[in-house]
Amino acid sequence: MIVYADGGFREKDEAFYPLEERGVLFADGVYEVVRYDRGRPFEMDAHVRRLRASLAGIGLPWPGVEAAASLSDELVRRNGLPDARVYWQVTRSAAGGPGKRSFVHPEKPEPAITMIAYPAEPLDPAAPVEAGEAVIVEDVRWHRCGIKSLMLLPASMAKTEAKRRGAVEALFERAKPGAAGTHITEGSSTNAFAVIGGVLRTHPADGWVLAGVTRAVLLEAARSAALAVEERAFTRAELLAASEAFACSTTQVTALTSVEGTPIGGGKAGEVTRRLAAAYVRRVLGA
Ligand code: PLP
Repeated sequence: MIVYADGGFREKDEAFYPLEERGVLFADGVYEVVRYDRGRPFEMDAHVRRLRASLAGIGLPWPGVEAAASLSDELVRRNGLPDARVYWQVTRSAAGGPGKRSFVHPEKPEPAITMIAYPAEPLDPAAPVEAGEAVIVEDVRWHRCGIKSLMLLPASMAKTEAKRRGAVEALFERAKPGAAGTHITEGSSTNAFAVIGGVLRTHPADGWVLAGVTRAVLLEAARSAALAVEERAFTRAELLAASEAFACSTTQVTALTSVEGTPIGGGKAGEVTRRLAAAYVRRVLGA
């Protein structure tokens, strides 16, 4: 497997981090995951735009950030992978390496870019929508969830808890300053949607959730299908009474057939979910 690391393409076994890499010591960096289907990247511009915004959010300049797209394409080509999920990571280093462990950023930071292309199953347009159960956990993450940061410990703990309880996703719930009660924000690695009173709802992309690329694609698909859509947070009670719910990310759209043991929509993927999942597949395949 060829990866991109330390300024070049190399065999994975030959790529190493310096011991004081800030991505490891401080989770000081950001990332993206881009899907390739039949050799084509999906929503590349949106990923580059979000990477730029995440880098600005942590104050790490990468003036040539557009190069991420061509590095990624080249990595996929070198690995001969028509279907792939490409992980991009940008951490804060400095000329000559990250230097001694210090809470203070290096004076002249430089982005250290790593990319890994993982093979993926070819997308099957005839496959049924993925479905699974969800649990709800407290959203203990920081207040800047619009940044796709490497600080994934809360997400990883939440997903592990979901798996332990036989669920596919953990939905985060939090009390936001200035808002009454608690709301569902998003999943541990997904955006969450629910159909409530006939309206498709998802949390606004206001920094309490990641502005998911898939979220934007599905919102656009829903609006062009003239569905009633509202970017407004929902509560646990609203979710448990919803007629449909789903979670989405670059890897897939997953119908949530139960939440905390309460069946949603009779325990099956609903009509809106199936329509949007199909629209997503068409968009990905450029059909
Ligand atoms: N929300 C969180 C917290 C995520 O980690 C992710 C993806 O990793 C998403 C939402 C979905 O984003 P996208 O659709 O861009 O993959």
